[in-house]
Amino acid sequence: MELSRESSFLKRTFASYYRRNAVPSPRNISRREFGFILFDREGMIRHLSFKDESELNDFLRKNVPLHAYYSSAYYESPDAENMENKGWYAADLVFDIDADHIPTPCKEEHDKWTCLDCGFSARGMAPDSCPNCGSKRLKVESWLCELCLETAKSETIKLVEDFLLSDLGLSLSKMSFNFSGHRGYHVHVFDEVVLELSQEARREITDYIRAQGLSPRFHGFSRVFVSESFPDMTDPGWRGRLARGLYDFISGASFDDLKRVLGKSRVAKLIYDNRDFILSNLGSSPPRWPSIRGVSVSAWSKIALHVAGIQRCYIDERVTTDIKRLMRLPGSIHGKTGFKVQSLTFSELERFDPLNDALAFRRGELRVHVSSAPRFVIGDEEFGPFEDVVVELPFPAAVYLLCKGAASLVEE
Ligand SMILES: [Zn+2]
Ligand SMILES: [Zn+2]
Repeated sequence: MELSRESSFLKRTFASYYRRNAVPSPRNISRREFGFILFDREGMIRHLSFKDESELNDFLRKNVPLHAYYSSAYYESPDAENMENKGWYAADLVFDIDADHIPTPCKEEHDKWTCLDCGFSARGMAPDSCPNCGSKRLKVESWLCELCLETAKSETIKLVEDFLLSDLGLSLSKMSFNFSGHRGYHVHVFDEVVLELSQEARREITDYIRAQGLSPRFHGFSRVFVSESFPDMTDPGWRGRLARGLYDFISGASFDDLKRVLGKSRVAKLIYDNRDFILSNLGSSPPRWPSIRGVSVSAWSKIALHVAGIQRCYIDERVTTDIKRLMRLPGSIHGKTGFKVQSLTFSELERFDPLNDALAFRRGELRVHVSSAPRFVIGDEEFGPFEDVVVELPFPAAVYLLCKGAASLVEE
């Protein structure tokens, strides 16, 4: 396959990165399957395995992949070509938090999707299927954005603190974290208690974290137990989370917010007018049901479900439930951005700024012709929007546009 000038340039650039940097070995490297997408070959080459870090890095230097992946699973024979013969015996519990799946308002400015079947196209977050023809074959043009990245990061911190540590009782020392190199973060849990979990067990975990099928009546929002005390904000799990969320929501909600959630202005008005009474009941020790004539348990349940929608975590359940998933290899370069897939500790994660800290290349400038790009930030600089223009850009910004296919090299 003949490479375009841009692809050859990117391949040389990636090659210089892999020459200068050693990619660290994933835990238990010899039990992992590796997969790569190369610059000059269609599709993925997979079923590869390496006995140690130096073998892996030899491969990276020799082949210079556009994308690099390794299995969350551990196999007896990771290089067996047939999945049945690999001898699966365990898998890390992995989570993918990606801005693609989190509704952020800025997507209207920087993202676009097109239906490959009927040609329908719109700005903003891509739907599951085309509203015009129902096709699921959508081409999504997504861009890095500070707000999207910040949202994905706080969602990751919420996942770890509220769910993995607090509810599931896992330990930070048995987790690793990385920036995905594009619009999100990955959490890998390698605690022994999770390694052998089945797909179904992992599905239970994702449903719990995503509040799928959550029923408020099992968490204290039940007619039968009206006389009993209300869920306490210090209760563990969803019960306490709903109580805290309800308190926050009632404290901050306008009449219109309540009307939107409840659909009925009469009930919304009753709640809005009795806010102080409700908050003092919820906040008392022990908390009491805020009984208001005209506000039924089902109205409270509606609010509880709304609150659950705010407090749940946006994880990609397909990634977590797939026990043979190939994940991005930390330390490699993401071929759609030219950014590093950056390993982080949890405390590093809190201060991490991917647009500064995950740059694989820093030096120099490059002149490129940009066909089209929205406004974007790299380093501390803001660029664009660009439309059919030749510009000189700092090297990482130019590489980013080349990776996105939004720019071409200019003859010197
Ligand atoms: Zn369509
Ligand atoms: Zn955004």
